[in-house]
Amino acid sequence: MRRKMAAGNWKMNGLLADLVQLDRIAATCPAPDADLLICLPASLIHPASQQVRHSAMMIGAQDCHWNAAGAHTGDISAVQLADAGAAAVILGHSERRADHQEDGATVRAKAQAAQASGLIAVICVGETLAERDAGATLDVIGAQLDASVPDSATADSVVIAYEPVWAIGTGRIATTDQIAEVHAFLRARLIDRFSPQTGGAIRLLYGGSVKPDNAAQIFAVPEVDGALVGGASLTADDFCPIVAAL
Ligand code: PGA
Repeated sequence: MRRKMAAGNWKMNGLLADLVQLDRIAATCPAPDADLLICLPASLIHPASQQVRHSAMMIGAQDCHWNAAGAHTGDISAVQLADAGAAAVILGHSERRADHQEDGATVRAKAQAAQASGLIAVICVGETLAERDAGATLDVIGAQLDASVPDSATADSVVIAYEPVWAIGTGRIATTDQIAEVHAFLRARLIDRFSPQTGGAIRLLYGGSVKPDNAAQIFAVPEVDGALVGGASLTADDFCPIVAAL
C-alpha cells in the first residue's frame, strides 16, 4: 500500500508572517495516515522546519543544484537544504523547465544530489497544451520520466508528480479520464524500468488546479496517490479540505 501524500508548492510566495498557516494546517488537518509536505521558498525553510518540528509535517524546497557546494552564485545545494531542515525538494517543475531551461539530464542530476542528501525528490512531468493537441502527451511524458528519474530511484526517495502544464494555475483541471490514462502509463513505465516492487511503490501525485471542490474526484482516480497543490496550498482554509479528501 502506498502512503498518500498532500504536497504544497508555495512557489515564489510567502513571507515569515505567512508561516502561521503551517500551524493552522498542523492543528486542523494532521493526517496521521498521509505525508504532509509544504515546499517553500528557500528563505522560509529553516524557520518553517523549526516551527513544525513537533508535528509530522515535512518542509520541502522547490529546486536544488546538482553539486554539493562551490562557485554557483545564487544557487542552493541539497546539502544546504537538508541542513536547513528540508525533507524533500520539488525538481523539474514545468516553471523551472521553462524559465531556467532545465532538461531531463539536469533534473536527473539534481535528483541524485537530493537522494545523496536524504531528501525526497518530487520529480514533475507534464505536457503542454500544444503537445496534448498534437497527440504527443504520452511520448512527451515518457521521455521526461526516462530522462529525469535516476537509476538509483527508490520508493522512499522519489515521488513523481504529473502536472499538465495547461492545468497549472489556470483553474482548468485534466479530466479524470486524462489523469487515469497518464497515471496508468507512468505506473507501467516505472514497473517496466525498475521492478514490480519499486515501480509499484513509487508514489504518483497529480498537480494542476487541485482545489477543495475537485480533490475528492481526483483522488478517486486509480494510481493517484495524492496531489501537488500550488495556489490552494497557501492557506489552511484551502489546503485542509484537500488533505481531508485524501
Ligand atoms: P496550481 O499549481 O495548483 O496553482 O495549479 C500546481 C503546481 O504548479 O504545482
